[in-house]
Amino acid sequence: MNIFRKKAVSYVVLVTTAFCMLFTSPDAAQAATVSSVTREITLESRSAGSADKSSWYVDYVGYNTVTKDTNTTYNNSPYSIKVVNNTYSVTEVKKTYKVKAGTYYRASAMVKCSGLEADPSATTKNTGAFIGENFSYNNSEPSTSEKWKNISYTFYTGDSTEYSISLKNGVWYGECKGTVWFDNVKLEELKTTDKWNVLTIFFTRANGTGKMSNGKKVKIKSSISDSKIKEYKKILNGLYDDMDKVSGGLMDVKNIDYRVCNMKLKDFLPYDYTDQWGVDIHCLQYNWDVPKVRRKIMNIIGDKNYQQIILIVPHSKTFGWWGLTGGGFNGINCSVIQTGYEDYMINSGYPTNVFIHEMAHGLEHNTNVGRSTPIASLHSSADYGYSSNSEADSYEWYKDYYRDKIKGGKGIDPAVYWKPLNSGKVISDDMTLGSGIY
Ligand SMILES: [Zn+2]
Repeated sequence: MNIFRKKAVSYVVLVTTAFCMLFTSPDAAQAATVSSVTREITLESRSAGSADKSSWYVDYVGYNTVTKDTNTTYNNSPYSIKVVNNTYSVTEVKKTYKVKAGTYYRASAMVKCSGLEADPSATTKNTGAFIGENFSYNNSEPSTSEKWKNISYTFYTGDSTEYSISLKNGVWYGECKGTVWFDNVKLEELKTTDKWNVLTIFFTRANGTGKMSNGKKVKIKSSISDSKIKEYKKILNGLYDDMDKVSGGLMDVKNIDYRVCNMKLKDFLPYDYTDQWGVDIHCLQYNWDVPKVRRKIMNIIGDKNYQQIILIVPHSKTFGWWGLTGGGFNGINCSVIQTGYEDYMINSGYPTNVFIHEMAHGLEHNTNVGRSTPIASLHSSADYGYSSNSEADSYEWYKDYYRDKIKGGKGIDPAVYWKPLNSGKVISDDMTLGSGIY
């Protein structure tokens, strides 16, 4: 843990005429979980190990062990990689692949666990065996199953032509102990589509207690009514036309699925920011790292191919935000919208504005992957001479942003409108072992 530094991402929050949104810092990972975008790891003076690009090697092991196991294997393969965490910790076994820029890939593995136990003091209990980006929060959903299970993680290469995948026992902030076997690791190049399927899930009930960073406990009890759901569906159906208009035909929302989930959301995380007047605000956000909640969302996704997820959650005065984008589920962009601002949305002239804004954040992030110089921040319209007095004014900015018309090539890269399909072709299933694995 001492070889790297973790720090919280500082969000910038706009609080203007009841229009309040969050965004991730340009370099914040579109991580595997929504709330994990509140964290960021900074790579600093990290020992790289021997960068054996042709094989799997131990990248971060601590006091744990990584061995070649010829007894416990998947489907009679010659061997698996066995990772034993002796203490609550993280082990990463890494391989670097040569990849094509501007391409989507899916990394997958078969995993089997034994005696996995989450660190009781870790921030997230959503832990276990993962496959994901090396030394990052971009991961598959975890498995803790004692039977062989498939885990997979989809990623976009952006400007990068090399990409490092890790097999992980535990994850940063979600340390665990116990044994994991990894086998049948595959890398697939995915086909893409520019027709977006959007999944909207209404989480209708929030009921629990959250503790703010200043120690103040807040009881949250809030819900979304059936009529509110109807109102949102009507607004969201506007995206079919509005996305086409704002993007000049670059983005095509093909289908929006609606699901209602009555599972009680009861876990909240402290969330702090400084508003535009320099006042420190303490508030709460929903915790999307809760394993039960994540499993629910993954079950709703099922085998369907979605390019965007929108979670609509009950309003609470303790939340400092309206819309929030960051993280996702297995590489799918995800935005969270809090109810309570519908009148403002409708009165602004184009009710879909909050969705256009939040989905642009996902695309902003997708564009920035692998770039040394990020594109214009979605919140920097004034720096580029656009008026941002009202949401109607912002439309010109969004239009140019979506169409890559911001001067200096600082808008969304049109390539990122092409999103991955579930199908692809295997480009590597190499399991050659390198340094540190015996
Ligand atoms: Zn924003």
